[in-house]
Amino acid sequence: MKQLWMLMAWFAFSSAVDAQYKFDVYPTYKGNDLGLTYTPTSSVFRIWSPPASAMELKLYEIGMGGVAKETIQMQKSESGTWVAVVNRDLKSMFYTVRAKINDRWGNEVTDPYARATGINGQRAQVIDLKETNPVGWEKDQSPNFSDQNLPTDAIIYELHIRDATIDEESGAKHKGKFLGLAETGTKNKAGLSTGLDHIKELGVTHVHLLPFYDYNSVDETKTGQYNWGYDPVNYNVPEGSYSTDASDGRTRIRELKQMIQAFHQNGLRVVMDVVYNHTALTETSNFNQLVPGYYYRQKPDGSFSDATACGNETASERAMMRKFMLESVVYWVKEYHIDGFRFDLMGVHDIQTMNLISDTLHKIKPDILLYGEGWTAGASPYPEEKRAVKKNAHLLKGIAVFSDDIRDGIKGSVFDIKDRGFATGKTANTESVKFGIVASLPHLQIDMSKVNYSKEPYASSPANVITYAECHDNNILWDKIALSVPGASEEERKKMHELALTIVLTSQGIPFLHAGSEFLRSKFGEENSYNKGDSVNAIRWGLKTKNKELHEKIVSLISMRKEHGAFRLTNNRLVNNSIRFLDTQIEGVIMYTLDMEYFRWTKKDTWLNCLMIFNGTNNPQTITIPGEWKLVSMGKAQTNSRVVKQIGVKPKEAMILAQVLD
Ligand code: CA
Repeated sequence: MKQLWMLMAWFAFSSAVDAQYKFDVYPTYKGNDLGLTYTPTSSVFRIWSPPASAMELKLYEIGMGGVAKETIQMQKSESGTWVAVVNRDLKSMFYTVRAKINDRWGNEVTDPYARATGINGQRAQVIDLKETNPVGWEKDQSPNFSDQNLPTDAIIYELHIRDATIDEESGAKHKGKFLGLAETGTKNKAGLSTGLDHIKELGVTHVHLLPFYDYNSVDETKTGQYNWGYDPVNYNVPEGSYSTDASDGRTRIRELKQMIQAFHQNGLRVVMDVVYNHTALTETSNFNQLVPGYYYRQKPDGSFSDATACGNETASERAMMRKFMLESVVYWVKEYHIDGFRFDLMGVHDIQTMNLISDTLHKIKPDILLYGEGWTAGASPYPEEKRAVKKNAHLLKGIAVFSDDIRDGIKGSVFDIKDRGFATGKTANTESVKFGIVASLPHLQIDMSKVNYSKEPYASSPANVITYAECHDNNILWDKIALSVPGASEEERKKMHELALTIVLTSQGIPFLHAGSEFLRSKFGEENSYNKGDSVNAIRWGLKTKNKELHEKIVSLISMRKEHGAFRLTNNRLVNNSIRFLDTQIEGVIMYTLDMEYFRWTKKDTWLNCLMIFNGTNNPQTITIPGEWKLVSMGKAQTNSRVVKQIGVKPKEAMILAQVLD
């Protein structure tokens, strides 16, 4: 038995080595013309497939169904590529490719580099990209979001395109579409602004949109379908279900550009949520039909590894996958004027690729915003020290990671519905929140042994960290509070919610809000609503009327953050010089001073110092304070107020005090 096991292990090992060896001998194509190069007089198609012995291009008149009008044998060309040149105008035609590998024809698939497709992304389309530009697109510019456009000046708002306007009360004409988010002047029943106007009114700087590349889970031939879209099919094509006509590849491109243009015209930047870590399909994906195995990592037995829990994980460390990712993000920036990327399960990708992407994109757009999830959803065969996981954040250049330490420090673990956080009465989470306040940097006053997840600081600067309390994943904040503190009254829960968002918006790092949290959005306790439809996911604009008071407070906190540079410190030294935690003698109360003197000289700030007090306990507290202060209300220092020696702080209250230049 033992010998048989050893023999099997040897076979598994040698096949993995074979697989790796086979990939290494594939030549890397260096050109930048993969996919289609179109002019009215010719279309040149170039597909990379070193193992193929033949390659076919099929031309169709429609995007789905029917038979091919023409089949063209592609010619073997340099560095493992296959080329077909058609010397006539192919505009509006659709095409697929298929490779013959080991004497067998594979499936017809889309060109991975396709920039337009027909319905459901089944066939690529020949288009003239210039014809997809809306009026004035040449003049479209990304708006400034601060005087220097630094990452720490950003305030991110995470939003799903359909959720934003699908509700009856959104007032939008194109509900659930790209165009719905491009509409201005939309209002709810009470006359309060919705959609794009609402986001502008809130004062955030960047709208981070859940996936809008072409994904698999929504049938574009039907209406009323719902999915978050974390299942990519055509990486360089917009999703058809967000357009008014998914059958013609140009419509979705034009309408997406119109939406981005509208955001830019209204002072907002656009972050694209990208999912290069896996593909919706595995064996039958276009990647795998054209170059079997190459774009994915393998387990020792040669089977697909699965660090994404979605059936496969891509291999960013392999030259042509790295090239694909790089060219894809560059394309979105150049063609669509995208202002930032959020990398899903970035911990799957290798650090070298992420830094190459960052260097390249920063050369094109110096103030681009890059961040990602510094974790995976399963084990990866690629060594952790080479991957872009949270603990390696300091090795990433110009890329931030999400801080789950402060997220769960504030509201409790996302893996345990009943677990509470600092804002919901779990005083043991105090140190995790303090670690988040200093943006996961080394700080002498943080006791790392009491921090929930990280045992060492991992950031190199505040720009290295996304500070948040919630996102689309897991229970939304308002639901998490209700589920973990079932005995609390609505008024008490509102205080907790406000405390949580106040911590996020006053802490160092890059703050991140989930859409609708500013007016207590609920998903009715549904913790994974990715396919749960509009009834769970739609943003109900009536809530803005109901919870107007909280919305106005969040507006004032955002405005305060933008007004005072000390909330947006740019390096480790400034954070350590400016933030002093003060001992309140009460577990569950955080008090710190934020020295603003530096900004008085450099930015003419009229605040000299700020005192933040967060009472996470269930009791009112009387806190002894140093010096003399003004109360801050709605983001403004109340010049008539005077607070000395002691102050009463209600349960779950966030109190902000300031010393102001006379
Ligand atoms: Ca799709």
